[in-house]
Amino acid sequence: MLNANKNFSNTLLLTDDDIGEDHLMTSLETPMRPDAFDLSDEEKMERIEHHFREIMLTMGLDLTDDSLRGTPKRVAKMYVQEIFSGLNPKNKPKVALFENKYGYHEMLVEKDITFYSNCEHHFVPIIGKAHIAYMANGSVIGLSKLNRIVQYFAKRPQVQERLTMQIAHQLCTLLGTDDVAIIVDAHHLCVSSRGVQDVNSSTITAYYGGAFMKEAKKYEFLQYLNLPAKSKVSEVLQS
Ligand SMILES: [Zn+2]
Repeated sequence: MLNANKNFSNTLLLTDDDIGEDHLMTSLETPMRPDAFDLSDEEKMERIEHHFREIMLTMGLDLTDDSLRGTPKRVAKMYVQEIFSGLNPKNKPKVALFENKYGYHEMLVEKDITFYSNCEHHFVPIIGKAHIAYMANGSVIGLSKLNRIVQYFAKRPQVQERLTMQIAHQLCTLLGTDDVAIIVDAHHLCVSSRGVQDVNSSTITAYYGGAFMKEAKKYEFLQYLNLPAKSKVSEVLQS
């Protein structure tokens, strides 16, 4: 199983700028303050609205303009209720498992799960697809729940490696098996729209646990995805 508090000591000598530009992460858990949920959603939206108005004013925007007036409130609502709603554990999808009555023991692959996330270093979108496979142990999971788990972890400020590992960790825990594989293929707008401005690159991360650490199973999974087995998949952060 994965170590939820794994830290990566090789990041310790890097500056904040190094970490931001190279999109490194420092732990599997999304770094949260101990008082993260002392405020209600309504209180958070009020504060964010205030601060976002200050950002817009600082940039010199005229908030008396009809088109801009409502923006701070819209952004606050969008942050708390939509694109960062996955920070709050109360929004974690309720997942019912079913007994594997049909005795299905091959891999199940759910591919092309589209997600929208945001880069935690620049707060601009990450748009991608997740492909998930698992081998049923005693229980199976509703297919739409795989999708919901991806969406839940995507709706946080993220780095792609952490997103991949958080989904993997959640599925291993829920399904009571290490036989889980995930590939995430995503486009980072902070790479295409700013910085190096590479519009064509995408980033692939993968997790292979249990049975999927064997080449044959890994190959079978990649075949289902129509990906060449020797593609540039970076097998990040295996436990
Ligand atoms: Zn970024």
